[in-house]
Amino acid sequence: GKRTNMSIKDQRESLPAYKMRKQFLEAVHQYQLLIVVGDTGSGKTTQLTQYLAEDGFANAGVIGCTQPRRVAAMSVAARVADEVGCRVGEEVGYTIRFEDKTSHSTRIKYMTDGIMQREILLDPELNRYSVIMLDEAHERTIATDVLFGLLKKTLKRRPDMKLIVTSATLDADKFSSYFNSCPILTIPGRTYPVEIMYSREPESDYLDAALTTVMQIHLTEPPGDILLFLTGKEEIDTSAEILYERMKALGPAVPELMILPIYGALPSEIASRIFEPAPEGTRKVVIATNIAETSITIDGIYFVVDPGFVKQTAYDAKLGMDRLQVTPISQAQAKQRAGRAGRTGPGKCFRLYTESAFQSEMLPTTIPEIQRQNLANTILMLKAMGINDLLGFDFMDPPPTNTMLTALEELYALSALDEEGLLTRLGRRMADFPMEPSLAKSLIMSIELGCSDEMLSIVAMISAVQTVFHRPKDKQQQADAKKAKFHDAAGDHLTLLNVYQGWKLAGKTDPWCFENFIQPKSMRRAEDVRKQLIQILERHKLRILSCGRDTTRVRQALCSGFFRNSARKDPTEGYKTLVESTPVYLHPSSSLFGKQAEHVIYHSLVETTREYMHNVSVIEPKWLVEAAPTFFRVAGEKGGLSERKKRERIEPLFNRFVGEDE
Ligand code: ADP
Ligand code: MG
Repeated sequence: GKRTNMSIKDQRESLPAYKMRKQFLEAVHQYQLLIVVGDTGSGKTTQLTQYLAEDGFANAGVIGCTQPRRVAAMSVAARVADEVGCRVGEEVGYTIRFEDKTSHSTRIKYMTDGIMQREILLDPELNRYSVIMLDEAHERTIATDVLFGLLKKTLKRRPDMKLIVTSATLDADKFSSYFNSCPILTIPGRTYPVEIMYSREPESDYLDAALTTVMQIHLTEPPGDILLFLTGKEEIDTSAEILYERMKALGPAVPELMILPIYGALPSEIASRIFEPAPEGTRKVVIATNIAETSITIDGIYFVVDPGFVKQTAYDAKLGMDRLQVTPISQAQAKQRAGRAGRTGPGKCFRLYTESAFQSEMLPTTIPEIQRQNLANTILMLKAMGINDLLGFDFMDPPPTNTMLTALEELYALSALDEEGLLTRLGRRMADFPMEPSLAKSLIMSIELGCSDEMLSIVAMISAVQTVFHRPKDKQQQADAKKAKFHDAAGDHLTLLNVYQGWKLAGKTDPWCFENFIQPKSMRRAEDVRKQLIQILERHKLRILSCGRDTTRVRQALCSGFFRNSARKDPTEGYKTLVESTPVYLHPSSSLFGKQAEHVIYHSLVETTREYMHNVSVIEPKWLVEAAPTFFRVAGEKGGLSERKKRERIEPLFNRFVGEDE
């Protein structure tokens, strides 16, 4: 590749941002607030922070830069550390949930927007920072949206602090009018034309169409790498395998195709491979989630394959919780994706949908997360910051009232809010744990129930990784047999506990993991999370107590947080949720599969062919009533909480929130 021969200095100076360096720094000196707009790949994330540091802004404090995605925070920190010539964690570092790669010498700090929120909770004035850059603001995550409002306040109290908001799209006017009509700096693009191709007919199987298109490009188009957008890890891994097989079937006569997956959960060392240029005579295909839409830039892409879908979280009113759903992208996203093909030269974008679908079925822009997701977490955090006037909060796009009501009702049922709608002591404590409120509550209640030692392990295992079990395709039976040894008759939470305790007893060694088909890395990560949770408990002077064999209490503690996620065995097949009577099922991998447990709670729902409960435990119904008496009294009245009932129940509570700021 060409790039490898270019020095880092040349590379940096060849980026579009470099031409704007002087203007950018002048603007930052002159104004407290600045919006920077520039195409993806123009150097906003990696360069602007360095310009600021070179100009002396790092002397007065840390330069903080937020990212909506964890992987982006890690990968840009790695890149910038490289450019600066240090190791990650020295002058350049990053912080994501449960992982802090910074030190006292860190001057440029990348972090998720969620981490920045937590830092404001601890220090509303953000005194450590001289500049904050809210990066990728166009992504409009809930955390970034909330930060807009919070940082506007902070700026008033910190006249010396600078705020830079960057966006890859031209929504800048809306941003500017929200941010007190602040100036907008535009980095001129350097993009080549991209030819757009549409499917003539709607595709019945977009995955198959996508892989066929990739193969066609590889076999018929001139050199240039391919970027394929898919929706998630499973889809990406499956596609990588199919492509690999198809290439193998063609034999050595065709040029090599490097297949490189990238998604949020991928270990960072593999992720960095996607940036390396493909060797002479070969082509690479990067198969990515929408993380490659704007968060990270891969050079050398000439072909984009866009099936038109994205997996995103949306609040499901029927289930009363957030759910990951595959949905069509917006026109704005389609344009961003196509743009990825025109960064190195003229490119092509293959849209696997019809032009009329693009025109008439896709929304012009994506709905911001704050208008479609559960807000319990966010509201808990705002309340912990002393912000009670939620209706009066300075949202760029306020969330729908109903969504706020649902969240308030949820927090009230969790006893995080009192009858007056004010944060309880329990609620304040819950806010200090970086996890969903139900999990935080279960952990806190486990102290009263004398089983916090056990609950810590379970919470750590659930929060740290998707799964600790390793189930290789060619050894599924052996893996399942080993897993069965950990199975607990009371359910999956205690099964996880058994794994943790087995690992601990065996000296936390890797050979034990291999022997038992457990992922050693996941265990180490869980252990790391566990240690951090212990620190939070210690800060609150909360005790760590073991219940020994009496693990009933662990399930009681789980009920105190997850009472809404309760289900009862249905005479026909599967289960029905207690709150909305929705049919849900045990997954064959659950330790309760094939058993006849009458009442259960679950951690979450995962929809594949049907709605599967994930992490399920046996419970007694009276624990639910003990855990949330008010909730179940109302729910019991007419076999469920109708939307109207919820409103009636919560509206008086909600009205008190207006104008009660401290
Ligand atoms: P923006 O934030 O404007 O989208 P970035 O600052 O992320 O742009 O990227 C600027 C350039 O830096 C990219 O075009 C790419 O060439 C290079 N780059 C970014 N991250 C990496 C990485 N991890 N490895 C190699 N090059 C990278
Ligand atoms: Mg960027």
